[in-house]
Amino acid sequence: MIIVMSPGSNAEQLQRVQNKVEKAGLRCHLSTGEDRTIVGVIGDKKAIANLEMNMMEGVEKTVRITEKYKLVSRDFEPQDTVIDVGGVKIGGDNLTVMAGPCAVESKEQLREAAKVVREGGAKFLRGGAFKPRTSPYDFQGLACDGLKMLREAADGEGLKVITEIVDSDDLEVIGEYADIYQVGARNMQNFQLLKALGKAKKPVLLKRGLSATISEWLNAAEYILAGGNKDVILCERGIRTYETFTRNTLDLSAVAAVKELSHLPIVVDPSHGTGRWQMVRPMARAAVAAGADGLIIEVHPHPEVALSDGDQSLTPKNYLSLMTDLRDIAALMGKKL
Ligand code: PEP
Ligand code: MN
Repeated sequence: MIIVMSPGSNAEQLQRVQNKVEKAGLRCHLSTGEDRTIVGVIGDKKAIANLEMNMMEGVEKTVRITEKYKLVSRDFEPQDTVIDVGGVKIGGDNLTVMAGPCAVESKEQLREAAKVVREGGAKFLRGGAFKPRTSPYDFQGLACDGLKMLREAADGEGLKVITEIVDSDDLEVIGEYADIYQVGARNMQNFQLLKALGKAKKPVLLKRGLSATISEWLNAAEYILAGGNKDVILCERGIRTYETFTRNTLDLSAVAAVKELSHLPIVVDPSHGTGRWQMVRPMARAAVAAGADGLIIEVHPHPEVALSDGDQSLTPKNYLSLMTDLRDIAALMGKKL
């Protein structure tokens, strides 16, 4: 349920509303807008059903929310969430690009990648150290050594780090080296991991599951917010359909849907979304035009020898020209790159 306070209501009336909600064993989530305050009520369904707030002074109206997710909902928080990652902003009028190889392979590979990633204007270096591969015989990542390499290469160019977490036991070690935890498509509904990330002190980028509906995806995000971590970035990375030409079907309509349903920032991954480097540029441009808050793109200094996802990785040259296009489209969309 949300309780909309009337524009002229005062702090005392708001306090009385909060007290009544808390007395019923429920929790309040406050959203203070320019002209009115919204109180989101979360907790036991029955207790919410029995809560009578309409007659209280200062209350304009109450609205019952039928969706299961609450904290991620735009009804609860009408303003766009902007996440500040050590001075780099994600959401609002910012276009944030995260780029780098699929997997961390070597110091040299990352040094080259980080240099071009920074040159193009991206703010984050991406790279997996723990790789959730479809086959157990594929390269599984360099684990902790990879994390150290990633941090070192990023620091050398003044970049932030985003990397995937696959196991909640790695929360601490990844938190030591990364600025954002990435939850991969295969783990979108790993609820133990989501709960652990709800207690983490760093932002989380939550990829859409391979066959997840938008509602399932937002409910997955709700797990993280419900745990106390409000800094969640959603990432559309393509879904499984009957099409085989592309690796996945990039659902750009998800950008518009998420903007309608949620206040959380959304970025698009045109690399995994298509699986083909030739399609990364047009889809990246379309994502920004659709209103995405950022992109996560695979870039490899030598895609032909990449240990994973070479087919969908941009060469440095192609990445740099894409970034030039994006600057123009971002400006049209009123966003800063
Ligand atoms: C990745 O970003 O390297 C990755 C494994 O992506 P996804 O979880 O979208 O498949
Ligand atoms: Mn990849």
